[in-house]
Amino acid sequence: MQTNYVFLLNADKTPLDLIHPARARELQSKGKARVFRHYPYVLILQHQIINPFTKSYSIKIDPGSVWTGFVLQCGDEILFRMELKHRSLNIKSDLEQRAGFRRGRRSRNLRYRQKRFNRKRPQGWLAPSLMHRVLTVETWIKRFIRYCPVNCIEIEQVHFDMQKIMNPEISGTGYQQGTLMGYEVRQYLLEKWGRECAYCGAKNVPLEIEHVYPKSKGGSDRVSNLTLACHQCNQAKGNQDIQDFLSGKPDLLKQILGQMKRPLNHAAAVNSTRFAIVAMAKKLCGAVKCWTGGRTKFNRTQQGLGKSHSIDAACVGESGASIKLQTHQPLMVFCKGHGNRQARRVNASGFPAVEKAKDIFHHVTAGDIVKVQITKDRKKVKAGIYTTRVKTPTCKGCEVLIDGSRVTLSTMKDIVFVHRSDGYSYGLLKNS
Ligand SMILES: [Zn+2]
Repeated sequence: MQTNYVFLLNADKTPLDLIHPARARELQSKGKARVFRHYPYVLILQHQIINPFTKSYSIKIDPGSVWTGFVLQCGDEILFRMELKHRSLNIKSDLEQRAGFRRGRRSRNLRYRQKRFNRKRPQGWLAPSLMHRVLTVETWIKRFIRYCPVNCIEIEQVHFDMQKIMNPEISGTGYQQGTLMGYEVRQYLLEKWGRECAYCGAKNVPLEIEHVYPKSKGGSDRVSNLTLACHQCNQAKGNQDIQDFLSGKPDLLKQILGQMKRPLNHAAAVNSTRFAIVAMAKKLCGAVKCWTGGRTKFNRTQQGLGKSHSIDAACVGESGASIKLQTHQPLMVFCKGHGNRQARRVNASGFPAVEKAKDIFHHVTAGDIVKVQITKDRKKVKAGIYTTRVKTPTCKGCEVLIDGSRVTLSTMKDIVFVHRSDGYSYGLLKNS
């Protein structure tokens, strides 16, 4: 299985071309390069190359609510793939919990306190759980720019191009051929009809595009005459008029006819987080190109590629129309945050539950990735060398998780640092 290409830095830390993993091994075994960073894997040359020649690379991003896909593309080759998992839901629940504590504290009948009305949200404010998505994507764009000669960023900004759907005449060649247009229309309809069958409300089933007024009876091909139906409903309706088909359900008929006339408004079509991501990217790189999700899906199905977040990122934009995947194993990155400010864990009565660590154990902090040597077989863990993430530093040492069981390490003798905690944990996709 092909793994990701390796980042290479010149001795002065300026980025050079990505190199094949075999070349990276060769450089390391000959002592010409050493490890600069493990996740993502970056090497640094021991001797400076004067006036190096580098190719041009583009970062391509498919932002999502839970997962964001990243790839680095050079020409038509995809050399690096990464999938980032956000923690928006955790942030939301943490803040709700904090608000609950605060409300409880303030509403306690201790003294009179005047109501406060001085809270104002600045323009372009995003909820912390959404801002987290923008900020983590920013972190990774900055990292890629530091380790790779990037000169373009391509982002899937919207699901479909509203303007092109409304005025198909203004479109480019891809649109005039009609195929790409179909994908844009589909994304539009999914958004407009709430991703469910208009007639029975079935969700998570394949949906077919349906003419509300049938074509055989003079109905048009315009998007305003289209809806989405599951296979059964589509077959059942056939070329009946909607008035006849829904004659027994006047409420549903009224609702569908109303929804038909209502074009999707601009606010529903755009996603504020994705726009914030594009605005942020424009500050980091001069050339930012924005594309639609309709085009991504078109590119992916045309090439018969499977669905994954990094493959979607690879198919973004015009450059995604014909790609060569040089790597089959994306780097999986999980946002873990930086813990909380709670000084002591407490029990149900509010008393300290765990003895406080007197000193930080040899600078080990939660989230560090370490290589651990277990010399003797333990109850649940066999002797061997493990790479793992530190769970909790305690006063007696630090706890790591090996094969699902907590192991306490009380000496630094068997620990080697691999990667200092940076708010993420890393892994590889298994069985792919
Ligand atoms: Zn249906």
